[in-house]
Amino acid sequence: MNALQQWLLSRRVLRLLGRDECWRVIVQGDKWLCPYCGELGAEDLRLEDPVDAKVLRHLQGPCPLWREGSGVPRPYTELKIRADQFQRKEVLADKIRFNPLWRHVDLDGSWYCPYCGTNTEILLPLPEEISASSVDEVFRHLEQCAGARQSREEYRPAEVLRRAVDQANEKIKMRRVEIIQEWESNLREARRRQMQMLPRSPKLPGMDVHVVYKPCASVSGDFYDFVQVAPGKVGIAIGDVSGHGMEAALVMGVAKKLLEIHGKGNPGAAQVLKRTNADIYPDLGKISFVSIWYGVLDLQSRHLRFARAGHNPLILHNESRIPALTTYNSEGMIVGVDRGPNFNSQLEEVEIELVPGDTLVQYTDGVIEAQSRTREQFGLERLCDLVAACPGVDLMEMGRRIENAIEDFREGGEQDDDVTILALRLQ
Ligand SMILES: [Zn+2]
Ligand SMILES: [Zn+2]
Repeated sequence: MNALQQWLLSRRVLRLLGRDECWRVIVQGDKWLCPYCGELGAEDLRLEDPVDAKVLRHLQGPCPLWREGSGVPRPYTELKIRADQFQRKEVLADKIRFNPLWRHVDLDGSWYCPYCGTNTEILLPLPEEISASSVDEVFRHLEQCAGARQSREEYRPAEVLRRAVDQANEKIKMRRVEIIQEWESNLREARRRQMQMLPRSPKLPGMDVHVVYKPCASVSGDFYDFVQVAPGKVGIAIGDVSGHGMEAALVMGVAKKLLEIHGKGNPGAAQVLKRTNADIYPDLGKISFVSIWYGVLDLQSRHLRFARAGHNPLILHNESRIPALTTYNSEGMIVGVDRGPNFNSQLEEVEIELVPGDTLVQYTDGVIEAQSRTREQFGLERLCDLVAACPGVDLMEMGRRIENAIEDFREGGEQDDDVTILALRLQ
């Protein structure tokens, strides 16, 4: 549109604003109702002194129906009805924002109409969050509310409304208790299945094996497993998924399965972890992580090859070794943070030759990060001291001593992380 056309249009609009009643519908004193789309097209408009620029901006901008004047204006009576609606909605918005009688809401957030006193199922937000759509919803209810039609301004007494809300809240609370109970029973079932997934300590020739497994939530993110790698070779895994509850349990199930799949027939401990990371990384989406220690024990040659992906150091103790106690801090990133290149290049595989009397202890964060009342952590050193104090003590008894020591350390505080301890001893 050139300057002349624009000028002509502006003259035309000014003329219409000056004398056409369809163009002169004003809401709340200064809001102009567009005769084409029927929406509020401009604010701060005084018809005695019409300023066409704001109107032009609406017509040539957001108005969907003006179409250079080729659209059809709405009839005056329809525009007046719309103007009246806008006006009533403005008043209504003030009421549902500020009038306590209009703000009866139950625990589900449903709004109770002050005319009919019933639950409208309309979600009424806080006064400062009330939007045009909340006002529209309330408006639509009032349009068909028998109570509002019969008694224009007669509200239900406040105590009647309050009682309706109180009664609804009682029911809501009961329903919530039922939901929680159902959820808890689902969790119990999930836990039962999870426990079934975890193996009993296997019988290994020439080895004692003992596992302590104490999940803190109903379902746990800790896991351990024994993988049949090949005849005479057993894979030993212990892992800890970040977080607890259902999601951690699901990730745990996947990690455990992957270790089993990749571990079968593969004596390379680091390689099994690399493949597991590559498979699980896309699913974890950098939200969950899993620390895993995985070792392959050759029962004939008594060699142990292991790698730790961000997991705690392995403890090896034997009175006849010098030093008697060693912790293995080999390099390795946690599973689930890197697609592969960094994970693979950092993961270090360690091989040790076991001798009779060697005690191996692997464990999860719940052990060394158990907290005292003063928020001190149990720590690796205390665990090592306990292991060192148990030469010749059978593994079940050692497990019990560690459990008790953690319990005492917590000084009655809650167990807030899963506890898993895996102990092996070469006879
Ligand atoms: Zn319009
Ligand atoms: Zn009503």
